[in-house]
Amino acid sequence: MTASHETQAQAGTAPALDYDAIIIGAGMSGLYQLYRMRELGMRVRVLEAGTGVGGTWYWNRYPGARFDSESYSYSYSFSKELLEEWNWNEHFAPQPETERYLNHVADKFDLRRDIQFRSRVSAAHYQDATRSWDVTLENGDRFRTRFLITAIGPLSAPTMPRIEGVDSFKGASFHTARWPKEPVSFEGKRVAVIGTGATGVQTIQEVAKTAGHLTVFQRTPNWCAPLHNSRIDAEQMAKIKAGYPEMFKRCQETFACFLHTPDPRGTFEVTPEKREAFFEKLYASPGFGIWQGNFRDILTNPKANDAITDFVARKIRQRVKDPVVAEKLIPKNHGFGTRRVPLETKYYEVYNQPNVELVDIKEAPIERITPNGIKTSDREYEFDIIIYATGFDAITGSFDRIDIRGVDGLRLKDKWKGGPRTYLGVMVEGFPNMMMLMGPHTALGNIPRSIEYNVEWVTSLIRHARDHQLTRVEATAAGVASWTDHVKSLGVGLLSNEVNSWMTGINSNVEGKQTRIIARYSGSAPAYRARCDEVAATGYRELALA
Ligand code: NAP
Repeated sequence: MTASHETQAQAGTAPALDYDAIIIGAGMSGLYQLYRMRELGMRVRVLEAGTGVGGTWYWNRYPGARFDSESYSYSYSFSKELLEEWNWNEHFAPQPETERYLNHVADKFDLRRDIQFRSRVSAAHYQDATRSWDVTLENGDRFRTRFLITAIGPLSAPTMPRIEGVDSFKGASFHTARWPKEPVSFEGKRVAVIGTGATGVQTIQEVAKTAGHLTVFQRTPNWCAPLHNSRIDAEQMAKIKAGYPEMFKRCQETFACFLHTPDPRGTFEVTPEKREAFFEKLYASPGFGIWQGNFRDILTNPKANDAITDFVARKIRQRVKDPVVAEKLIPKNHGFGTRRVPLETKYYEVYNQPNVELVDIKEAPIERITPNGIKTSDREYEFDIIIYATGFDAITGSFDRIDIRGVDGLRLKDKWKGGPRTYLGVMVEGFPNMMMLMGPHTALGNIPRSIEYNVEWVTSLIRHARDHQLTRVEATAAGVASWTDHVKSLGVGLLSNEVNSWMTGINSNVEGKQTRIIARYSGSAPAYRARCDEVAATGYRELALA
């Protein structure tokens, strides 16, 4: 807090605000929120833990990191000029290209002057007397702001495995989400990867190209499908640009804002031959089509799910030469698409290489990390490098890592003990003037599309508060109860909710995250937007405004 705050506090007057709004995080949401808040003429500060912009695309610089959604559907759509001037080089951009893009956005709109880097927020406490938030950084610096906007991402709190001896390893070790900026060479090295989610799969297929020997420690295999990436030439990019209005319109209409949307047919409404041909077509097509553009019932009807699951299992058996290894790579405890589908480029063929070995740690569990490597119940393996692709404390984890306290000092972490409870995924009762971007129970889907909507809705709410001299904006208990019930009811009958994954709030490495919850909104994005639009159109009557 500044000296003037102290003086004002001593004099008994309300301390001045440092900012109208503080945004935590300079990723895709934080950058766009900053842009919009400036348009309102507000004093805004973005507090960012990293040394650069990009959020997810700043931290996740592991080898092989890239989009699984089409690059052009993943860019911001709010600026025609930006769309016109930016050329994507690949249909599914690698991390460096995306990081460059987000830096370009920050430069183009001169965003950096309001971003404070190396500033990790450790606490945010609401003060009802002043209707403001006191935000504290790890270094002890404090700021007071009217509005607190969290732009901290659903997948940004990396988790290390709870395995004994992690700190004892003498070689180099990295979590994928904390990868160093300096290049890491695998040439001739003995490398271990623990984890086979979307991140592990991308890492493994890249590291296998140069590692002397790569050992993959797999606990649960995932159903992966081909990405079919390719380069975009100038002619194609010109066509993509000409088609932007139509493409973004389509993204607004599809279920989860992807270019792909479920086929209206049921799996068994077509002949077996037509079904097989459709699966083949999807398997040979780029991107998430096989997951998001499949028959409408594959994620709700267990028999329909069996059909696509059987199809993909056959593909794995065809692609992996050793049948024993193939069986290990085929998931047995969940059906296709019930966890997030990792997209891959020759991932399965990696296991045909002589320098790659798969260790099934369900058969031989890891007992400890040793100074020289990894010891399973079977034997000890020696490594030069260990890569932890062990995922995130998802959705609520990034909130849990900040000491967020609302009215009467209530901790958000305590409030969400049994799972998150929100109003539209944006607000929480008892936490006035706090708005969440990509918070729990909001529509995620194709993230940048959802971000733009989320940011615009929050901006409109803040504009409304400013125009009506409101200084306290809060969700009501009834509003939170009703939205939480709605989100829970949408999850009923979804096969993905019967499976352990970050999408059901499970993380074996985090205390208290072993029970499945409904962590995500699983309705359609158009329905989500319609509901939020309705709230805005009726003057935010459902909120407590003062
Ligand atoms: P994840 O899907 O949660 O996968 C973590 C992996 O680590 C799992 O295989 C897990 O096994 C394993 N693991 C965790 N703790 C372990 C332990 N103690 N011992 C052994 N294995 C352990 O995390 P992720 O791969 O980082 O992906 C998270 C999400 O990020 C994705 O689903 C996706 O939404 C997003 N992502 C997106 C992109 C993209 O757009 N291109 C790329 C990467 C990630 P279990 O399954 O047995 O728990």
